Amino acid sequence: MTLAFQGIGIAPACSIALGPAFIDARGRVGAAHSSISSEQVPAEIARFDLAVTAARRALQRVRAQIPRNTPVKVAEFIDAHLLMLEDAALVDEVRRIVADERCNAEWALQIHGDTLVEVFEQMDDPYLRTRRDDIEHVVHQIQTHLRDDAPHTRLEEQDLQGVVVVARDLTPADAILLKHRGAAAFVTEFGGPMSHTAILARSLGVPAVMGIHEITRYLRSGEPLVVDGETGTVLAKADESTLEYYRQRLRAIEARQRRLRDIVDQPAKTRNGVLISLQANLELPEDVDIARANGISGVGLYRTEFLYMNRKDLPDEAEHLATYAALVADLDGIPLTIRTLDLGIDKRADGLSACGSGACNPALGLRALRLCLKEPALFRPQLRAILRAAALGPVRLMLPLVTNVQEIDTVLALLAELKRELHAQGLAYDDDLPVGAMIEVPAAALAARAIARRVDFLSIGTNDLAQYTLAVDRLDDSVNYLFDPIHPAILRLIRMIIDAGNGAGIAVSMCGEMAGDTRFTRLLLGMGLREFSMQPGAILDVKEILLQVDTEDLQRRTARLFTHLDDTHPARLLDTLNQD
Ligand code: PEP
Ligand code: MG
Repeated sequence: MTLAFQGIGIAPACSIALGPAFIDARGRVGAAHSSISSEQVPAEIARFDLAVTAARRALQRVRAQIPRNTPVKVAEFIDAHLLMLEDAALVDEVRRIVADERCNAEWALQIHGDTLVEVFEQMDDPYLRTRRDDIEHVVHQIQTHLRDDAPHTRLEEQDLQGVVVVARDLTPADAILLKHRGAAAFVTEFGGPMSHTAILARSLGVPAVMGIHEITRYLRSGEPLVVDGETGTVLAKADESTLEYYRQRLRAIEARQRRLRDIVDQPAKTRNGVLISLQANLELPEDVDIARANGISGVGLYRTEFLYMNRKDLPDEAEHLATYAALVADLDGIPLTIRTLDLGIDKRADGLSACGSGACNPALGLRALRLCLKEPALFRPQLRAILRAAALGPVRLMLPLVTNVQEIDTVLALLAELKRELHAQGLAYDDDLPVGAMIEVPAAALAARAIARRVDFLSIGTNDLAQYTLAVDRLDDSVNYLFDPIHPAILRLIRMIIDAGNGAGIAVSMCGEMAGDTRFTRLLLGMGLREFSMQPGAILDVKEILLQVDTEDLQRRTARLFTHLDDTHPARLLDTLNQD
């Protein structure tokens, strides 16, 4: 019988994949099952024993550090956990399960721990009932140490060709790894469609479904899966007729993509002759080939965080410059907008500890431009490299998460200083490097007129603009239903930003995910947007629409839509706009 799971589909186009499951056991609360051979049993038991010893040592270290004046109860807790770690009822039984059932230690520990917890839960004595928590803690301690050295759970060491990776959560760095290792798709328990991992999946063309809680518990590695990144459905044990249905859909998607190739060489002009700039968001330099093949007029957002991921050290100026110079050469005259480092809670790097992750609310903390301004040693090499790369071809610099005009003034002063430095060193740079601000903080949208006076262009980051305006965490699938880029508040802010840019006579583009979502193309054209930057895979879909529309007609109809914003839900207004 087909097993169906429902989550959030991440990639609207080309989003179906069929392949065997690979259960990523990292970061799990529970454990995944994997079978082992009888020859592997002694090594698996030894691995378990080592994890128990490591957990015991860790607890002994904690116990040794307890301050003298701490109530005696704290030490007693730790002693109780230490005793459990030595208790045959826990440890011997796990060894037995590994040997008898020929399974991995994590799984044996998990099922035995669950049995013990159940026994304690059924006790009449309320005190004893609470001891279930102790068992869970001890099991968790051992699991943590098991995970740290589990060779079969390290993504980097797996052959992922053609598999569907099923994980509790995946970082953007993991998504890159999956792409490079040829994974067919991924499915996660957590995460929302605006998380950076989801954005990467779209951009890299990896079908993905997120937010299926507990799915890693129900699937086994090797089991054939169907992933529908459009509807958010994941199927296991699919019967032949279901599989045939998905194969047919895949063929239809491929046929549509072939048809879209016919419009690649047409100018991106609306029916009434307005030229629209279709630009690409690049996550990795290698995306440039698909972007160019889709006929872009620029790169509106080159995210540079990926220079910092999957490594322990930080890139220096030479590495920045080499990366940008190669991209400028590949783009061969097509303008490149380099966004300065935007690390934060969503996008972390191993080589950087100060990413706001220790803060109470990292999304509101020291991330992006704030982090760069605080750490000149981090910012200066990147700025110098951008200035130097701009001497090699058309390059613009874009600042993420601008909150106020003072930040821009500080960057402009820093750039002036760096230019003097480069000049003194006899190094080539672009004295007229255009500088733009991303408008993704509501305060910046409301102050867009003042910001527009200081910069050369604005770019609307709707992912963060929506996150901060709606107070909806991009990463939290439980509030994802509130994430609505056509909420009247967002639409008014976007209009304000476009007006501010037009008023100052500077270009306004949009590089948030909204720009590549065809449901919003007519609306955004009607609001006056003329520059769209999106995942390379969406360019031809957006172009197909703009070739059919008349901007003056859309502008009239959008103006009417705005007059009804307070009495009709924007989604209904949007339907009307999209109907003809
Ligand atoms: C945005 O916030 O809309 C944006 C484009 O930046 P990022 O998704 O990288 O935060
Ligand atoms: Mg952003």
